[in-house]
Amino acid sequence: MSRKKAVPGDGRRDTEIMVVGEAPGATEDEKGLPFVGAAGKLLESVLEEMGVKRSDLYITNVVKCRPPNNRQPARDEIDACSLYLESQVLLIRPKVIITLGSIAGEWVASRMGIKWSGVTRMRGKIYRGNILGIKISMIPTYHPAAILRNKGRVEDLKADLRIAMEELVRARGSKNSSEQRVGKKTLLDYMGP
Ligand code: URA
Repeated sequence: MSRKKAVPGDGRRDTEIMVVGEAPGATEDEKGLPFVGAAGKLLESVLEEMGVKRSDLYITNVVKCRPPNNRQPARDEIDACSLYLESQVLLIRPKVIITLGSIAGEWVASRMGIKWSGVTRMRGKIYRGNILGIKISMIPTYHPAAILRNKGRVEDLKADLRIAMEELVRARGSKNSSEQRVGKKTLLDYMGP
């Protein structure tokens, strides 16, 4: 085993929004926290622009330990960590899951019985279903590391996060959700009574 620290997840246990990435990178491996390297900084700054603090969410990854040399997680590594992520979904019971990239998108889609056809095709849309009996709205989007390689996609990420916030309002049974602005509100505004 080459990892330094396992990276189980970070954030509010009582949140209604879960963010799922792929696997820890080098910085995450050092710190034991998800999305604290360059990709995490980008994610955090986009969230903050929307008035959402990362501490209002629960952020985790499909795979909890850094794969050697930053390679993609292998099928057996994904399988080995799946019970962990399923348990996190059961404990947190999120209404909305934002998936970052293909590995997370495919993992969540498969649990919901949805065929995964890639981020580019599936992003920007809402997929409603359930995981282990918990009603979930899945919003797939690009992995922030992919946006660092192709900065033009940052607007797509923002648009997808906005869709996620609006979907949270809808999932909570709020009336006229399409009329509510998501601009500079904090997530707590969405989560309030
Ligand atoms: N990339 C991920 O998928 N997860 C992290 O925690 C960091 C980078």
